[in-house]
Amino acid sequence: MSETIFSKIIKREIPASILYEDDLALAFRDVHPQAPVHFLVIPKKPIVKLSEATIEDQALLGHLLLVASKVAAQEGLTGFRLVTNNGEEAGQTVFHLHIHVLGDRSFTWPPG
Ligand code: ADP
Repeated sequence: MSETIFSKIIKREIPASILYEDDLALAFRDVHPQAPVHFLVIPKKPIVKLSEATIEDQALLGHLLLVASKVAAQEGLTGFRLVTNNGEEAGQTVFHLHIHVLGDRSFTWPPG
């Protein structure tokens, strides 16, 4: 997998507002927030997109959801929305798997 902006954030080569870090995952604020609270949860493992994850990543994927929930609570959110864009057609622009966590506003359904 080629270098992305998120792998540079993991290596601290570019700055980010980091909210949480452990051996497997990193959470940081989105630079173009789409809600009053908008952060991203990423694996440190460079998985390009969800559809490239394998059974070996099962525990890691569960961990990312728990990190999303933990950081949402840290941010004072009770209701929040998770979004993962898988592939260009779905709007993915950074090809390192990430979960958007958005909160502190109301949401409509279905999403656009
Ligand atoms: P989209 O750009 O359509 O939201 P993605 O689902 O791939 O597609 O999301 C990439 C997200 O990464 C965007 O919300 C964008 O604002 C965010 N982003 C890009 N560069 C940075 C950065 N340096 N720091 C934090 N967030 C970033």
